[in-house]
Amino acid sequence: MHDLIIIGGGPAGVAGGVYAARKKLKTLLVTESFGGQSIVSGHIQNWIGTASISGLDLAKNLENHLRAQDDIDIMEGERVKSVLKNRGGGFFVETDSGKRYESRTVLLASGSRRKKLGVLGEKEFDGKGVAYCSICDAPLFKGTDVAVIGGGNAGLEATIDLLPYAKHIFLLHHGPRLKGDMITQEKVLSNKNVQVLFNAETKEIHGKTTVTGLTYTDTRSGETKTLSVQGVFVEIGIMPNSEIVLGLLKTNAWGMVLTNPGNQRTSCPGIWAAGDVTDAPYRQNNISAGDAIKAVLDIHDSLHLRG
Ligand SMILES: Cc1cc2nc3c(=O)[nH]c(=O)nc-3n(C[C@H](O)[C@H](O)[C@H](O)COP(=O)(O)OP(=O)(O)OC[C@H]3O[C@@H](n4cnc5c(N)ncnc54)[C@H](O)[C@@H]3O)c2cc1C
Repeated sequence: MHDLIIIGGGPAGVAGGVYAARKKLKTLLVTESFGGQSIVSGHIQNWIGTASISGLDLAKNLENHLRAQDDIDIMEGERVKSVLKNRGGGFFVETDSGKRYESRTVLLASGSRRKKLGVLGEKEFDGKGVAYCSICDAPLFKGTDVAVIGGGNAGLEATIDLLPYAKHIFLLHHGPRLKGDMITQEKVLSNKNVQVLFNAETKEIHGKTTVTGLTYTDTRSGETKTLSVQGVFVEIGIMPNSEIVLGLLKTNAWGMVLTNPGNQRTSCPGIWAAGDVTDAPYRQNNISAGDAIKAVLDIHDSLHLRG
């Protein structure tokens, strides 16, 4: 029986693991891999305390920091299949390989995945002009022409993030009207460096070693058109990795786990959640780590008080 099982080896899971070990909680961390979503990033320039680090190096640092702790069990390469309640108020955590672990509490730090366009060239040029995080990658596109795909808040905000850097921004939206907040729409639409293309369905991303263009169909005229761009930001939403706890706790309409932002408790007593799997408004490495630390301190206090 563990005090705590942490699911995930991204910034949230690892930060939680380090704090749990230092608090002497009997902890197991189960993860498919270390590093989390920004592992594909070439230059992370906002991990506080480090001016620039590659996603791969950040992943190595996170793993090393966790493994430097004296007392923590680590299961790497294991995918959690489900979390179930046991009869004593704790939980069973089951993995794809058939293993079953038991714990008094769970910290869900399983993150999220970006929705993909699923068009030709997207995978090939991922990290070579195709990007999914404007806060992180906008400065890499200084002086270039870029396309942003998505006319909701994510696409509009990505466009705003790109304004200080990109020369020209094409904002492609598959519908006839933008969907994001009016105030953000106004900010985007009033900028002469932004051109909004409505009814635009992206068909293919082109390039040689890096992105050089994008083809889309105008769904009203049926015409196929090509844009010359060096970057494509895909901003069509994210999917939280929360399937393993669905039914146990409350989520919003998109499956993001609802938490109390003061202590990261979920609606299910005994389960805490932190990072991109939650409905927190900002999705960043530092925020995920901080939220997980809050959660573990609260878990420690709650177990200590419960005895
Ligand atoms: C391309 C890209 C670049 C980015 N660049 C930056 C940046 O420069 N700066 C910044 O602050 N943020 C950046 N972000 C955002 C940042 O990566 C996320 O906010 C952060 O990774 C969230 O951390 P997390 O630990 O909550 O989740 P994740 O990073 O999503 O980690 C989830 C972890 O859980 C594991 N996992 C998932 N499901 C299971 C399961 N069922 N069983 C076991 N393990 C599981 C995964 O293997 C992974 O280790 C970027 C995101 C992307 C996509």
